[in-house]
Amino acid sequence: MRGLLIGRFQPFHKGHIYVIKEICKEVDEIIIGIGSAQLSHSIENPFTAGERIMMISKSLFENGIEKNYYIIPIPDVNNNSLWVSHLKSLTPPFSKVYSGNPLVKRLFLEEGIEVLTPPLYNREMYSGTEIRRRMLEGEPWEDSVPKAVVDVIEEIDGVQRIRDLLKSDKI
Ligand code: NAD
Repeated sequence: MRGLLIGRFQPFHKGHIYVIKEICKEVDEIIIGIGSAQLSHSIENPFTAGERIMMISKSLFENGIEKNYYIIPIPDVNNNSLWVSHLKSLTPPFSKVYSGNPLVKRLFLEEGIEVLTPPLYNREMYSGTEIRRRMLEGEPWEDSVPKAVVDVIEEIDGVQRIRDLLKSDKI
């Protein structure tokens, strides 16, 4: 049985690792869809799809997750009612979706696809919004992500990228 986890992973954090470990108990193969794959270099979506693929594949290796997995970038479409079929055209077939995002859940349910919602794990700390805020404000963020993600963000100078995005070209 193949299951799908879809997320923006901006960045990939320890909450995502927790969810993937839970999903691995239930499926034979896991598809990890990188949502909003076309977006990067903004405060809400700082990292490219390629950078997010690096974060995820290195973190799964680091955590000893050996389950068969596929990491697939999924660009957004400007029409929610077409999104599920667009996504299905890009991924291997799957029979279950794992998501806590209300819009994602609704769109799959309307297509008759079973959606399961894994419990949130330490959401105060393990949240993309909170991690990006910490990066911007110079607070510690490294404990919220796998070590492999710290390495990728250092390699691409990711914290400075986010800070530069806030700068204005007006005096
Ligand atoms: P996300 O990275 O915020 O979260 C991914 C998953 O991890 C979610 O299911 C979330 O519940 C779970 N999660 C997050 N923190 C957790 C924690 N601490 N513990 C346990 N689980 C945790 O991504 P998202 O916002 O759910 O991504 C949805 C993607 O689908 C977006 O890229 C969105 O643009 C895309 N989408 C696109 C369309 C369209 O193109 N029309 C429509 C719907 C959704």
